Amino acid sequence: MDHTGIFSATLGLSLLWKIDRISFVDEIGRVDLFITCSSGARFSCPVCGQDAQLCDIREEIWHHVDFFRYSAFLHASVPLVDCPACGINTVSVPWSRSGSRFVLLGKRRPSRAPRPAANDTDTDG
Ligand SMILES: [Zn+2]
Repeated sequence: MDHTGIFSATLGLSLLWKIDRISFVDEIGRVDLFITCSSGARFSCPVCGQDAQLCDIREEIWHHVDFFRYSAFLHASVPLVDCPACGINTVSVPWSRSGSRFVLLGKRRPSRAPRPAANDTDTDG
């Protein structure tokens, strides 16, 4: 099993999640894991459990002080879903389950509509 498989199993990632990249800096004992949700994934509302539409992505950074003897930073693209009954909520992430030692360091506001890749002129303000 490679690093991706080991970390996926340890984090309890379902098929919904995918580790895109792992970066080790052995000199300082740091590992960065970059996690996204799989394309085409189906989501359920974290409140009531019924099917819900993906409406946005939020970037979150989580930290674990001793993950396989590394200081681990988990950079996750976490889906937000729009449930007809409950409104917009962030889906539950497996690494935040009870007993996990990952701590949420920060999150960025949900992005707006995708920006054009080329000729990007900032029209947000
Ligand atoms: Zn709901």
